[in-house]
Amino acid sequence: MSKTVDLAAHPLTVWQGPLGLPDFSRIGDDDFGPVFDAALAAHRAEIDAIAGNSEAPTIENTLAALELAGEALDHVSSIFWCRAGAHTNDTIQAMERDISPKMSRHFSAISMNEELFARIDDLYQRRDSLKLDPETLRVLEKTWKGFVRSGAKLDAEGKKRLAAINEELSSLGTRFGQNVLADERDWALFLDEADLAGLPDFLKSAMAEAAEMRGQKGRYAVTLSRSIYEPFSTFSERRDLRETAFRAFIMRGQNGGTTDNTDVVRDMLKLRAEKAKLLGYGSFAALKLDDTMAKTPKAVHDLLDPVWEKALEKAAADQKELERLATEAGSNEKFAAWDWRFYQEKLRAEKFAFDEAELKPYLQLERVIDACFDVATKLFGITFEEKKGVTVWHPDARAFVVKNADGSERGLFLADYFARPSKRSGAWMSALRSGYKLGNGATPVIYNIMNFAKPPAGEAALLSVDEAKTLFHEFGHALHGMLTDVTWPSVSGTSVSRDFVELPSQLYEHWLTVPAVLEKHALHVKTGKPMPKALLDKMLAARTFGAGFATVEFTASALIDMAYHARPDAPAEPLRYEAETLEKLHMPDTIAMRHRTPHFGHVFAGDGYSAGYYSYMWSEVLDADAFSAFEETGDAFNPELAERLRKNIYAAGGSKDPEELYTAFRGKMPSPEAMMVKRGLV
Ligand SMILES: [Zn+2]
Repeated sequence: MSKTVDLAAHPLTVWQGPLGLPDFSRIGDDDFGPVFDAALAAHRAEIDAIAGNSEAPTIENTLAALELAGEALDHVSSIFWCRAGAHTNDTIQAMERDISPKMSRHFSAISMNEELFARIDDLYQRRDSLKLDPETLRVLEKTWKGFVRSGAKLDAEGKKRLAAINEELSSLGTRFGQNVLADERDWALFLDEADLAGLPDFLKSAMAEAAEMRGQKGRYAVTLSRSIYEPFSTFSERRDLRETAFRAFIMRGQNGGTTDNTDVVRDMLKLRAEKAKLLGYGSFAALKLDDTMAKTPKAVHDLLDPVWEKALEKAAADQKELERLATEAGSNEKFAAWDWRFYQEKLRAEKFAFDEAELKPYLQLERVIDACFDVATKLFGITFEEKKGVTVWHPDARAFVVKNADGSERGLFLADYFARPSKRSGAWMSALRSGYKLGNGATPVIYNIMNFAKPPAGEAALLSVDEAKTLFHEFGHALHGMLTDVTWPSVSGTSVSRDFVELPSQLYEHWLTVPAVLEKHALHVKTGKPMPKALLDKMLAARTFGAGFATVEFTASALIDMAYHARPDAPAEPLRYEAETLEKLHMPDTIAMRHRTPHFGHVFAGDGYSAGYYSYMWSEVLDADAFSAFEETGDAFNPELAERLRKNIYAAGGSKDPEELYTAFRGKMPSPEAMMVKRGLV
């Protein structure tokens, strides 16, 4: 099949459209399959040539050759995944199911290639005598570690055991997720009109739809989907129903029978501990944290423990106030976990009565885009020039040329802002091509995808505050890709550890609410007047409300994740261990963990955030601390600091250890202080 594809001439692999982009008008949906097959075969041949090279290994003939191999595969993949997310159809979807396992087999074969590893290992052992620049040394070390973590150094028996463990973990992870899904699907509390006291209309209609889907048209269903459960427990006046829903929600995955996850978790923790030991690590957390900014469980605790103490104090104070409200409302029951959200909402309405819709006319999409660009120009000197009439994957997607301060071209920024049925939900950043200098080098082609509602023709698109923040967030990721200034492709742009990658994006959000930015760009769609400061202040004040509860429920889950994985062995009875650990932590019985063990999908439905749930908060610490550096100077655009930020964070990718990068920018490691202030905990 691949015989007919000429990779040196195909529009998927050779980009000859406007601005050097792929010519999307010449790419058919049916092209992907054969081009993928040809590109995979070409990459395999390149790998074989590197592995089988009769010359002694050098950085050029091994490490650089490995990094530059697979260009056709990179090109077809980046276009395919862009289409799969931003503009898909049945053909693309069917192909996705075919291509995902093909790709994973392909890359796992490379990481198991013994001849290839022998050459990398040879370079690694001689690394001190090779006189490498720091970036090359880091890429060599990361590459070597990647092989080792995939089991390259194990003997045949060890390799076999590792493969068996990985396979078993992957099927247990799938089962875990399916069990939670089954419990969520099978439970529903059917209500009638008379049971709906306090519920807002949006919730009633969601519950009506949920009931109809379950064959009870005309009734209302409370389900265990977070989008129904949370508002229900926030608004329902019926304490008995709130309790029923609460108990069902926290027991997902622990209801006995075939969908119970108790044994799945026990087996997974055992296998993870064994895997860590096999690979030479003291614990599974040590294995997972090895290539992160935090590096060790101790560093994670140094962050989480003080936050936990403050959160407990704040939650205890908040609970007193909620108990007062409950008593005033005539309740004489002991305040319980199913009361918290309900009374917190009453308190919020009392303290921060405030309509988000008032803000919307001030946040026009076009002006918020301008604000993103403007901040980037002020901080980093780059400018953006839209090229009209350049069609990429969809007519709504737009192309901008990114220029350096001296007018030279830095790369391209593509943006596709409006929702449509062919686009998956959410917002994200990705690259059609990463920027790097190795070999012939490449300039970055970065894109942002959003899902804003498209306005009727001739009207301006207006954003909510959250949407404007999302635009800044994803643009921050895009800057990480566009400002990259590294040699090696594998450390370009966002190729950094999980607990560092959200720094450039979350940090960028801070500039949205800088007064000078709002004064210039947040102008009323009809009157052109800037947003009143009082309105903004009200919105900002409301943001820290309820932080005690939110921080306790999050941090409890993060601490349990760490407790499971930082031990050298696995607990015999994980759920008992969860209960004992929470007791030691003085977890209040009026707040539940955000995710209890039997349904903690981040940690058990696959490997994604195992020993990594902390990283959401870690990133928040980084962005709060980083922005406070600007606040300390009294200038949100302090040029000297902005240059340090560009050089060490946005341009550096993964070329250095994140701790070293952060310290070079900030002069010290971050402390959780600024985050706790931002959250309203202190
Ligand atoms: Zn992000």
